[in-house]
Amino acid sequence: MLAPNLDFLWVIVAVVYGVPILFGSTIIIWASSVGAQSVARLALDRRLLAMSVGVLTGLLVFAGVFVAVFSSMHGTLLSLLPPTLLATMFGALTAFKASAKLNANLNHYKCKNCGARFRRQFVSDRCDRCAESADRSAPRRDRIATQQAIRHFAERYRELQNGDDSTT
Ligand SMILES: [Zn+2]
Repeated sequence: MLAPNLDFLWVIVAVVYGVPILFGSTIIIWASSVGAQSVARLALDRRLLAMSVGVLTGLLVFAGVFVAVFSSMHGTLLSLLPPTLLATMFGALTAFKASAKLNANLNHYKCKNCGARFRRQFVSDRCDRCAESADRSAPRRDRIATQQAIRHFAERYRELQNGDDSTT
């Protein structure tokens, strides 16, 4: 008689605590995702790292605030609301700050060309200097290709002319 009642109670407890936890963690995950791309545009792996650190710290704060506020109140169903809201607010704020801070510190890159370390607000594999010289050398490459084509054409033209000369 007692056992089924207890099982039923556990389901209620799970639902009652599950809702605040789901609500809080959804908002904390969202806040971390926003924070993880707040300053610089990062590559996916770095963004996920910043985001997961944000989620972890956010959930820790959530749990701490929730327990602190809830234990200071008398345990009725309604008293779940203030700790949930407070814990979500502080949790999400911490999550955002943590992931935003990481975001700002994860924008270091190593230049593929010269190996220099540099910071950039978007994903990049070349430092400013190398990117600039690459820009300058691109038109130069085009110029060389054009010159080669002209030379090739001139040679063919001369050959053709010589051929014509020899027949007449
Ligand atoms: Zn470089």
